[in-house]
Amino acid sequence: MHGQTDATIERLGRQVLEYAEGRLKLDPVPLDYTLTPEELLDRAGQTVTPDGLGGERAMDIFAEVLAPACLSVDHPRYLSFIPCAPSDAAAMFDLVVGASSVYAGSWLEGSGAVFAENQALRWIADLAGLPPQAGGAFVPGGTIGNLSALVAARHSARARAASATSEGSPTLRPWRVAATAGAHSSIQSACDVMDAELVTVEPDADLRLTGPALREVLEREGPESFFAVVATAGTTNFGVVDDLEAVAQVCADLGIWFHVDGAYGGAGLAAPSVRHLFAGVERADSFIVDPHKWLFAPFDCCALLYRDPLLARAAHTQKAGYLDVLTEAPDWNPTDYSVGLTRRARGLPLWFSLATHGTRAYTDAVERTLEVARHAEREIAARPELELVRHRDLSVVVFRRLGWQPADYQAWSDRMLGDEFAFVVPTTHAGETLARFAIVNPQTTEADIDAILDTMRE
Ligand SMILES: *Cc1c(COP(=O)(O)O)cnc(C)c1O
Repeated sequence: MHGQTDATIERLGRQVLEYAEGRLKLDPVPLDYTLTPEELLDRAGQTVTPDGLGGERAMDIFAEVLAPACLSVDHPRYLSFIPCAPSDAAAMFDLVVGASSVYAGSWLEGSGAVFAENQALRWIADLAGLPPQAGGAFVPGGTIGNLSALVAARHSARARAASATSEGSPTLRPWRVAATAGAHSSIQSACDVMDAELVTVEPDADLRLTGPALREVLEREGPESFFAVVATAGTTNFGVVDDLEAVAQVCADLGIWFHVDGAYGGAGLAAPSVRHLFAGVERADSFIVDPHKWLFAPFDCCALLYRDPLLARAAHTQKAGYLDVLTEAPDWNPTDYSVGLTRRARGLPLWFSLATHGTRAYTDAVERTLEVARHAEREIAARPELELVRHRDLSVVVFRRLGWQPADYQAWSDRMLGDEFAFVVPTTHAGETLARFAIVNPQTTEADIDAILDTMRE
C-alpha cells in the first residue's frame, strides 16, 4: 500500500488531480441526485474486495457512480438548510492538507499549521472585537463548537461554586442553560450530552432574545443555577440575530457565561452593511462561526473562540502519561480547547484562501450574497402570490406561497430537485409549512432567485 512506485503515484495522482480540477472548473456544477442503496449497489457493485479494484477503477466508480449521487451543496440554486460554497483556493488546498499528513492537535507536532490556523482565528476574533488574548481552535462543526464552549462554561461555574462552598465541593443541582426556542438543535443536544437542562426564554415578536425577557427567566428560576446563556447570531431557520448587547449586560450583571452561536450568521461580521446587528458580540465569553457555512471553506470547519482560553484549557486538556510531554509544555495545543483529541488541520483551507485573496475579498463576497438576499426579499414583496414571513436580518429569507398546503410545497420542492434545477426544501415555523432560501454562495444570482420564484406562480 505504501511505497508505491513513482510511476503509480504519477498515474493515479494525475487521475485524482484531473478529477479535482475538472470538478472545480464545472460552471455550473450539476445539482445531481439521491439514489437508493439498491440503485447504488446495482451501479457500483461490491467495491471492497480482498484484492482491491486498483486506484483507476475505484476512481472511475467514484466519478461515474458515487459523486453524481451526492447533491452539489455548492450549486448556485442549492438554497436549502445552510449550503457550503468553498472558494476554489480553499477547496484546492484541502487536497494539500490531505497529502501532507499534518497532526494539528499539538504545537510540537504541527506548529506551522497551528500558527497559520491561529492567524485565521485572529481575523475572526478581530471581526468580533474580542480581546488580544482570545483564542481557540477549529473544530468539526457548530455542534462540537457549542458543546465545547458549554463544557468550558460549566467547568468554570463548577470551579467557582466549589470555591464558594465551605466543603469545597460543587453543590448538586440541575445545571442550566438559557436560550430561545430559535436556538439551534445542537444546544439541546449539548445539554442532553451534559445532563444539563435547557430553559427556553420567549423571544419578542421579532423572534429575538431580549434582555428583559432573559432577566425575568433567570431571576425567576434562580440565576445561580445557570452556567451559560446562549444567544444566537443568525438563527438557522430565519437568520435572527438576538439582542447581543442586552444579553451581554444581563450575563455580566448576574455573573453568567455569555456564549454566542454564530455558526451560520457570524460571517456577517465581515459585512459592513449588517455589522451593527452584532453589537455586543465583543463581550462574549465564547463565540463560534462555521467557515463551512458562509465563509467559503469546505467541510468541516467551525471556528471556536474563547475570551479567556485558560478557562477552556482547564476544562478540556486530556491528561495521560503518554501525553505529558505535550500537556506540561506551555505551548498552544489546539486540542486543549475542545472535545476531541486527534485533529486534522481543518482550518488550513480557510487560511490558504484568506492568505490568497485577502480579507477584503471576503467582505465583498459576503456583501454579494446579502445583495442577492435583498433582491429576493424585494421580489417576494412584489409578487402578489408570495408573502414574506419576517423581514430579513442576514441572508435567510422565509416566505409563504398564498394558498399552498404543505403537500404543495413538498411537490414543488421535489419537482425542482427531480429536474436537477434547484434544491429548496420547505421549512416549518409555528406549525406552518413555508418556503425558505439560505443564500451563502456568491455564485447565486438575482436571476437564479427569479427563476425559482417563477416556478411558484402556477
Ligand atoms: C448549523 C448550525 C449549528 C450546527 O453546526 P454544525 O456545523 O452543523 O454542527 C449550530 N448553530 C447554528 C446557529 C447553526 O446554524
